[in-house]
Amino acid sequence: MIRYAISCLGCKVNTYEAESISQSLKLKGYIEVGFKETADVYLIFTCAVTNTAASKSRQKINQAIRLNEDAIICVVGCYVQINAENMKENEHIDILVGSSHKQDIPRLIEETLSKKEKHVLVEDVRENADFETLSLSHFEHQTRAYMKIQDGCNQFCSYCIIPYARGKERSYPLEKVVETARKLSVNHKEIVLAGIHTGRYGHDIDLTLTKCLKEVLKQAPLLERIRISSIEITEITDELIELMKQDNRIARHLHIPIQSGCNETLKRMNRPYTKEEFIARVNEIRNELPHVSISTDLIVGFPQESEEEFNETIKTIHDCSFSFMHVFPFSSKTGTVAEKMKGQVIDKIKKERVQTCSNLSKNLYYTYKASFINKEVSVLIEEHRGDKSFGHSSEYLPITIEGIHPHNQFVDVVVTHLINDELIGKVKG
Ligand code: SF4
Repeated sequence: MIRYAISCLGCKVNTYEAESISQSLKLKGYIEVGFKETADVYLIFTCAVTNTAASKSRQKINQAIRLNEDAIICVVGCYVQINAENMKENEHIDILVGSSHKQDIPRLIEETLSKKEKHVLVEDVRENADFETLSLSHFEHQTRAYMKIQDGCNQFCSYCIIPYARGKERSYPLEKVVETARKLSVNHKEIVLAGIHTGRYGHDIDLTLTKCLKEVLKQAPLLERIRISSIEITEITDELIELMKQDNRIARHLHIPIQSGCNETLKRMNRPYTKEEFIARVNEIRNELPHVSISTDLIVGFPQESEEEFNETIKTIHDCSFSFMHVFPFSSKTGTVAEKMKGQVIDKIKKERVQTCSNLSKNLYYTYKASFINKEVSVLIEEHRGDKSFGHSSEYLPITIEGIHPHNQFVDVVVTHLINDELIGKVKG
């Protein structure tokens, strides 16, 4: 019996792909073990989006080598795509797969098990326009399923390595999206639509994200909630807002990365909007969908970000009243435009700005959570903690619920308390 261990870093697209490969190996009779255990095969799905993710990817590779240096080590994904030349030299790595050819991984593992030979499948993804089909029927370790519908990005934000790692925008054909959603909905009541640039779904095949959502909602009736993982402000169309108003199976949460709230910084980042456009659109969304959660990503300490620019960002954040923010210090990535920019901000200032924004995010989150006290929300039960149940609402609010309620079921909950940042509720009786 062949034992394999898998580790996955980074985004939901990576998780989807890793889960798909894991399922293929199980179908071949392989047994999954924990990543800390001795295995015959180690798979590491890497990430390159931040320096921390890249360093964690390296740590995982080294951990696998330490655990069993005779094992087959298969390293996959964005970090490989960007660093293939150096990694080819590592004698312990048997299989290197970049951002394409992931469907070949089970075959490559079989071949390497019978004859230990190095395989390197890393090609120029800027030229490769195919959407790789990786099918998946369920997620073993999570209640909410991810579904990859889009890959690649054409935006080239000046700080981002992803367009180089993932290649051009491409979409999963609609009939395949529907087929996968129908399959996943047998085991999962909630699906998250994931992509590298999800809001651009369909631009290469004459479709839109809204049309995709409509079709999935129509043809996967078992599905009770569908969530958009992340979307750019310029991609939230009137049609999408209208559909959200009409069909409350679409989660009331929009994660819209702003990255900066200062026009000059946004320009240097090559982001396609101004702060005024961002704020105006957020207000329009809130007018149509009053209790929607709007969260964001923010990068602080971008090259040349002055005190004035940072303060402008803080003001914009207040104007947008985000429900919460993921705050990142700018980290320079080799090969990007921002790497070569003058005026890099020193670490001490970056740290201070992260702290300021994280505190602000904490306060915003508390205020948003508190606005739900005495309100009714629909919660998907994800786990049990002692004599309580836990899950997320449509707004992606984490809620602890009194009593044990069945896993993977939706319950209507009245939020009763907010204690130490934790929302508590009870099932509507
Ligand atoms: S939109 Fe910008 S940040 Fe997002 S993946 Fe594309 S280049 Fe990177």
